[in-house]
Amino acid sequence: MAEERSRHPVGGVDYPRTLQEFDEWFPSEAACIDYLQRVRWPEGFRCPQCGAEAAWRTARGEFRCPRCQRQTSPTAGTVFEGTRKPLRTWFLTMWYVTSQKHGVSALGLQRVLGLGSCQTAWAWLHKLRRAMVRPGRERLNGEVEVDETYVGGVEANVTGRQTFKKSIVAIAVEIRGRGSGRVRMRRVEDLSGESLLPFVEAAVCPGAVVHTDGWAGYIGLARRGYYHRPKSLSASGDPAHVAMPRVHRIAALLARWWLGTHQGAISRRHLDYYLDEYTFRYNRRGSRARGMLFYRLLQQAVRVDPVPYKRLVGGSSRAGPNM
Ligand SMILES: [Zn+2]
Repeated sequence: MAEERSRHPVGGVDYPRTLQEFDEWFPSEAACIDYLQRVRWPEGFRCPQCGAEAAWRTARGEFRCPRCQRQTSPTAGTVFEGTRKPLRTWFLTMWYVTSQKHGVSALGLQRVLGLGSCQTAWAWLHKLRRAMVRPGRERLNGEVEVDETYVGGVEANVTGRQTFKKSIVAIAVEIRGRGSGRVRMRRVEDLSGESLLPFVEAAVCPGAVVHTDGWAGYIGLARRGYYHRPKSLSASGDPAHVAMPRVHRIAALLARWWLGTHQGAISRRHLDYYLDEYTFRYNRRGSRARGMLFYRLLQQAVRVDPVPYKRLVGGSSRAGPNM
C-alpha cells in the first residue's frame, strides 16, 4: 500500500493522463480502492464514529477503527455504495465517459465494458450524472447571454407527436471576449416569467449584465437586481443567432449531442440529468488533460449520496432549480 501511495502524484499530477497511464495506475481492485480512499480522505482517513485517525485495513479493503472497532467501507455514502461490480469497472466507466468528447450512451457503454444488461449501463450513467453537479457551485457572473431552445421532438410519423415530445431548455452562458465562459442550462416548463426568472436567479449572480431578446418573460430581471439588456430583434433586424451567438452555438451543439450520442432517446423527466452531463463536459472543455475530468468526476462521486435504482427511474424530483 505504501508503495502505491508513493507512486502518485507523478510529476505533481494526481490523475492518469492517458489510457496507458490509467492502466498503469489501476492494475488491480486494490489500487482502485487505494486511489478512491486518497481522493475521499485527502488528509487521511478519520473514523466517522469516534474521530480516530489511525485505522487498520481489513482484507476486504475496509477500515477498522482500533479505538471503537467500527468498520467503514470506502464506498459507503458514495455513488459506488452497495455495488456488486468491481470498482475497477466503475473507474473504466468514468474514464470512458469523460474521455469521449461527446459522452456515451447506455448502449455504447454496455458494449465497451461488456456489461450484462443495458439497464446496468443506464443506471450507472445516471448515477454518475448525479455526481456531475457540484453542490453549491458558483453562479455565472459578468456579462451573460440568456435564451431558450427546444430539444427533442424527433420527426416522427405519428401525427402531433413531435410537439408533444419537445422540451424547452433555458441556457445561460458567460460572455468572455469573443468566446464563451461557463454555461448553465435547465429544462423549463414554459416561456413565462414564472419559469424563466427563477432559472436566471439560480444560474446568474445578481449584479451581472444579462442580455436577452425582447421576450416579455424576461421583463422582471431589472427588479431582481440584474442589469438587463434586452435586444429587440425586430428592431435590430438581426436574426437571433447573430444577437445571441454564444447561446445559439451551445443550442446547436446540444441538439447535435442529443441526436448523435443519444439518438434523440432522452425522456423528458430525465432531461435535467443529461443537461448536467452536458454542462459538466462543456465547462471543462478547456481542460488540457482528459484525466482531469476523470479526477473531478471521482471527487464529486465520493461526495454525493447514493441513489437507489427506484429513484433513478423516477426521474427528476428536484424541488427547486438545483443547478
Ligand atoms: Zn472509531
